[in-house]
Amino acid sequence: MRLAGRHYHDGKPVWLEIDDGRIADAGTFRTSAPDALPWIAPGLVDLQVNGFAGGEFTDASLTIEGVQRISLGLDGEGVTTYLPTVVTHSMTRHTRVLRTIAEAIETCPDVCRRVPGVHLEGPYISAEEGPRGAHPLEYCRPPDWDEFQWLQDAARGTIRILTMSPEFPGAADFIRRVVDSGVLVSLGHTSATCDQIRAAVDAGAQLSTHLGNGAHAYLHRHANYIWQQLAEDRLTATLIADGHHLPPSVVQCLVRGKTPERIILISDITSIAGGEAARPGVYQHASLGHVEILADGRAVVAGQREFLAGATQPLHVGVVNVMRMAGVPLAAAIEMASTRPARLLGLPGDGLVPGGPADVIQFKLPPGDGGLQILATVKAGQCVYGSPWGDA
Ligand SMILES: [Zn+2]
Repeated sequence: MRLAGRHYHDGKPVWLEIDDGRIADAGTFRTSAPDALPWIAPGLVDLQVNGFAGGEFTDASLTIEGVQRISLGLDGEGVTTYLPTVVTHSMTRHTRVLRTIAEAIETCPDVCRRVPGVHLEGPYISAEEGPRGAHPLEYCRPPDWDEFQWLQDAARGTIRILTMSPEFPGAADFIRRVVDSGVLVSLGHTSATCDQIRAAVDAGAQLSTHLGNGAHAYLHRHANYIWQQLAEDRLTATLIADGHHLPPSVVQCLVRGKTPERIILISDITSIAGGEAARPGVYQHASLGHVEILADGRAVVAGQREFLAGATQPLHVGVVNVMRMAGVPLAAAIEMASTRPARLLGLPGDGLVPGGPADVIQFKLPPGDGGLQILATVKAGQCVYGSPWGDA
C-alpha cells in the first residue's frame, strides 16, 4: 500500500510505502496541486477512553465483544491506540471488568493491536465534592498496596497508568511502589496540598490527569494544586480540550505554562460519545450514576451542573481546539495526541518514519469553524476506516 498526503510537520507532499505493518519507505510526492492533498499524520493515541458508542468499560455487563466494538468504533475517529479507562468502583466491579479487558487483549487480535494496557482512574482519589468529579463517593478511598496488587493481578498486569490523589497519609510510599512495579502514576481528582504534590513527584509521579478539571469550584488564589502541578516541570499534563471542560483562556494558559512539550491531549469520552447524539435529559449511566445531558451537549453530574461527567467529543476535536485556543501549530497539536502519549507508553513515537509502525491517519482541515475530518485510518498497515488516498 502506498499513501500520500501533506506531511503534518511541514505541509510538504510525501508518499509512504507501507509493507508488513510498517512504514517501509518514504519520499517526496510530486504534484502540481499540493493543497488538494489530504493531511497525513501518525494515528492518534488516547490515554483516557471510558467508553464509546453505548459501551462503557466500568459496566458490570462488559464483554469481550463490547471491548472489541469500542476498539473498532474508535477507528472512525482516527484513534489507532488507546487505553480503556476503568473508573472508581467496588472491588467486585473492578475485578470483573479488568479481567474482561485483559481477556479481550489476550484473545481478540483487534483489541490486542489497539490496546497496550489499561488506565485505572481511581479508586484512590479525593472524596471531596469537585475533586471527586462524577466518581461515586461510596467507593473513593485511600490507597492500599495489597488491593492494588489484587487489581493488577485481575488485570493480568495490563494496568499501565494509575490516576490517584496524593492527599492520603503514606501516599508517597505507595506511589514509589507503584512506579517501581512499572506503572505510570498520574495525579488527579485531588485536593492535595502543594507539599503533597511535591512529595508525589519526588516519589515518581509523572503525569497530571486532566489538569484543571476534577477540581474544586473555588480555590486559594496561590497555594493550590493546579498552580503547583502547572509549575512542576517533571509533570506532563493531560488536557481535555473539548470546548466544554476548560475555557479557551485556561487552555491557552495551561499550554503556555507547561509548554507544548509537556502537554498530552486526551478525550475522556464515555459511552455517550459516538452513538446517536444523546438528547438532553437525565440518564442512568453504567458507571457514573445519574448523568444529565444539557442542551449544549455537555454531560454533567445530575443536579450539579458545574461538575462535568466525562466528555462526548473524540480526541481529534481537541487537536483542532488546542490550535485555535492556544495558537499551537498543527504539528505540535498532532504530537500532543499521538507521538507524545505513544512514547510515554514506551511505544514507537518518532512519527511517520521508515521502520515505524504503519499507524497513519489522513484527514482534511477545512478553514473556518469546521473540525478535523478523518478521511482514512490505517492500523498496522491495514486500512480500518475510510478510503486511503494514494493507494496504488
Ligand atoms: Zn477524571
